[in-house]
Amino acid sequence: MVAKTIDGERYAADLGQQLAAEVEQLARRGVRPGLATVMAGDSYAARAYERRLYGLARKLGCYYVCAALPENVDEAEAVAVVDKLDADHRVSGVLVLRPLPSQVSEVALYRALDPLKDIEAVHPANAGLLTLDRPRYVPSTPASAFYMLDRYFRDSGRDPNGVYANSNMVLVGRSNNVGKPAVLLGLSRNATVISCDAHSFKAGLLYEHTSNADILIVAAGVPGLVAGEHVKRGVVAIDIGINPIEDPLTGEVRLVGDLDFDSVADKAEAISPVPGGVGPITDVWLLRNTVLAATAAAGGIERG
Ligand code: NDP
Repeated sequence: MVAKTIDGERYAADLGQQLAAEVEQLARRGVRPGLATVMAGDSYAARAYERRLYGLARKLGCYYVCAALPENVDEAEAVAVVDKLDADHRVSGVLVLRPLPSQVSEVALYRALDPLKDIEAVHPANAGLLTLDRPRYVPSTPASAFYMLDRYFRDSGRDPNGVYANSNMVLVGRSNNVGKPAVLLGLSRNATVISCDAHSFKAGLLYEHTSNADILIVAAGVPGLVAGEHVKRGVVAIDIGINPIEDPLTGEVRLVGDLDFDSVADKAEAISPVPGGVGPITDVWLLRNTVLAATAAAGGIERG
């Protein structure tokens, strides 16, 4: 079997078109969605993401601002910046980019967010709503992985509900931002879900679980962690990992996922690539949540 490659760019383009139409509709009502990012220090991943979001916001005609804070910013200053964005009427949604410098606690910034502007659902109130299956916003990365799965199953003539209910789903990675919400999204679709982490790996249990997965989602940040020998024939495999690898000769940086693409593709029914998989959908989803926030703020919909 040679797997179908799930084309994240195409899915993202479709979502982007729908979103552009929504932004136009809002514009007719005098509403302009606005996205603010908060970035502290200098990380390759955060900078790359910030630049992509800026480009997308501009393309859609949304307001955009980035609060770029120095590496040595203290927590109180960073919280004050979030407070300011919370109060800014041009801003519908605020994204705190990771990683943060060690002296700034993620949780302190997340708590400072206005839950109505917390488009990644990291504030405890929004994380709680997601747990209760009543999400105000679905965090963009896990949402994109499931958007990809839902669409893939539908496009291949299957009812996603039926597929999930009959599937062993294995999640590798349990971070608060990606892995844990993905577990909840799997549960809400009635899949049988197993969550693995670095401890599963150390205990020698990881590959026992991945080998049993009908649907596998990896988000560990470990290049090539799962290879063909660790998966079941016919698995549908989604790679969330984005790992910059520097070529020792040229110094050029390229991105790879957590799946060993070629060997998994030999056994899988379908696989998402890196780059060109979950990443482009995530960018659009973040803007989609910004537009939802703007619509809700304008009195368009009741959420949560
Ligand atoms: P974190 O570092 O916050 O979490 C990593 C998770 O993976 C942890 O739960 C950790 O376990 C687990 N893990 C680490 N090593 C292993 C291992 N050897 N075996 C099994 N599990 C392991 O990362 P994020 O969740 O933020 O991101 C994960 C990946 O996804 C990264 O590559 C990141 O760049 C990418 N990403 C991609 C996005 C996209 O849009 N496509 C968006 C966000 C992130 P433990 O909890 O025990 O430490």
